[in-house]
Amino acid sequence: MVQIVDKVLRTPGGDDQKIEVVRNTDDICAPCPKRRGLRCSNQDGIEKLDKAHLRALKLDYGQVITWGEAQERIRKHVAPEGLQVICAGCQWLQYGMCEAAVRELHG
Ligand code: SF4
Repeated sequence: MVQIVDKVLRTPGGDDQKIEVVRNTDDICAPCPKRRGLRCSNQDGIEKLDKAHLRALKLDYGQVITWGEAQERIRKHVAPEGLQVICAGCQWLQYGMCEAAVRELHG
C-alpha cells in the first residue's frame, strides 16, 4: 500500500495516475493475508462495501479514471460523516482515519 499511496498517488503528478475500478482483488490488496488469488476470504463483506462506495461515487466496475478525478468525486459526493453510512460494517471505520482523510480532502 505504501508503494502505491506514498510512492505514486502522493507524488507530483500522482493526480494523473489512472486507476481502474475492479471487482476482484487489486494492487492495494496484494500483500493482504486475506487475499485468496483474485478473491478475498471476506469477499461478500468486501463486495457489500465496494457496491456502497460505487453508488456513492457514481462509478461502476470497469471504469478508468484518474486519481485526481477520484478525489474530485469524493469531494463532490461524500461528506466526512457520510462514511458512517457508506462504510457501515468496515472494521476500520471506528478508528476515524478515513473520516479525517475525507475531511482533509474537503479542506
Ligand atoms: S472506513 Fe475506510 S477502509 Fe473502511 S470502507 Fe470506509 S474508506 Fe474503506
